[in-house]
Parts: sequence; C-alpha cells; structure tokens
Amino acid sequence: MTSQPAAQFAATTEDFIHNLSAVHSRISAAASAAGRQGDGVRLLPVTKTVPAERLRLAIAAGVDTLGENKVQEALAKSEELADLPHLRYAIIGPLQRNKAKFVARFAHEFHALDSLRLAETLQRQLDEQDRSLEVYIQVNTSGEETKSGLAAADAAELARDLAPLDRLVLRGLMTMATNTTEEQVIRSCFRDLRDCASQVRQHVAVPEQFTELSMGMSGDFELAIAEGATVVRVGQGIFGARQYPQRAVG
Ligand SMILES: *Cc1c(COP(=O)(O)O)cnc(C)c1O
Repeated sequence: MTSQPAAQFAATTEDFIHNLSAVHSRISAAASAAGRQGDGVRLLPVTKTVPAERLRLAIAAGVDTLGENKVQEALAKSEELADLPHLRYAIIGPLQRNKAKFVARFAHEFHALDSLRLAETLQRQLDEQDRSLEVYIQVNTSGEETKSGLAAADAAELARDLAPLDRLVLRGLMTMATNTTEEQVIRSCFRDLRDCASQVRQHVAVPEQFTELSMGMSGDFELAIAEGATVVRVGQGIFGARQYPQRAVG
C-alpha cells in the first residue's frame, strides 16, 4: 500500500479528473472498510511545487483548496490565481512568526499550529485584517526530531489557551506519521492523534467545530482513514511524483 503513492504525472484537465476520481475511490473504499461514510473524509489537495498555470488544470477538474507548506509560495500563487476568488488556501507546513502577517491576509486554514506565541501573533494580524483562520494543532506523534509539532501531552494546554483568541477557530489536530514502510508504526502515529483528540476533549471545553483529524498523505491515507482521519492531505496521488527544483532534490 505504501509502495506506489504517486499517480501518473497529470498534464491535462482529463488527467486530473482521472487522478482525483482514483483518489476519491480509494478514500471511499478505505472509509467503508472502516465502517465509515466516505463523505466524512475531506480530500485536501497538496499543491506545493506545482506552478500556478498547471494548477489551473487541476482547478478546472474540481480542486478548490490549495494545500501549501511554504507561505511565500502560497502567497505568490494566491496573487497569480487572484482571478479565482473561490479558492481556499491551507498552510500545512511550519510557520515562522514573522510570516504570520502574510497568512493572516489570504489563508483560510493553518494545519501546523504548535505554540501560543504563534497563535497570539496570528490573532493580532487577523484582527488587523478583520479575518479569521481555521487552525489545527500539530502533534508530533512520530518522535522524529525533523518533524514539528507539540508532544501529545501538551496539546490540551494549547487548546485551552486558544479559547480567548477569537480570530482562531480550532478545528482539530494534525500529524505526520513516521517515515517508514511499517504499517503498524504508521498506524500507531494516527491512533495516537485520535487518542490525543479524546484527551483534549476530556480536559478542555473545545469549540463545537473541534471535529477534525488532519492525517494521512498519498502513501498512507488509507491507514489514516482506518484510524479516524477526517482530512487527508494528498499531493503526489493527484499530481504525480513531485518535481523539486534542481537544487532541492530529496
Ligand atoms: C507534502 C505534504 C503532504 C502531501 O504529501 P504527498 O506525498 O504529496 O501526498 C501532506 N502533508 C504535509 C504537511 C506535507 O508537507
């Protein structure tokens, strides 16, 4: 299952229709195997490294949310695609506080919240823009140092501290599983996130919108759905293998 995550490189709107429908079928199959409804799982397309002109083909095929891990790249695309005001932008990678002002201007979702200081900065910038932002607390369930996110034990405290920050709508938790082919290890990361959400609910009066588990990527989203994912973040399964600029391979 984790062996062939990437789809064929999509170069036309028809290719995107094909790849999207294949991913939706996999989501439905995984959901029903887990005794869940497929419409309880949202597909968040991850568009990092894909240029705006190619994105237009995917948008014509139905993509309406762009998941980006770098603020600068996302901001540039939001300007190039400004003629498409219905698009939603989801920042899924770690954010430096000095870039919070950009996120406050155009993003709708932020999946990598991991500190109160960052939350307070976002709140201030959103106030200035008179906007709000859906946020997900990122939890490090893999223990890998290269991955960001809070320890699971600290998620409830941050969730509680967010309550007065009225520009931030806490939607749920987010994680990235250990980078391995061992399914049991991957699944335990996803299970830990689900358990963490229950802990948060037990200890904190979370908003009623706190319903989401953002977990699973092209190579592991079926396992995530089996463990309760409600948002899967899929790039290569839609666009084909990612082509990084020459200098940044790997
Ligand atoms: C790149 C990325 C993904 C998607 O990875 P794919 O292998 O392209 O599906 C999901 N989540 C985050 C945080 C990412 O940076």
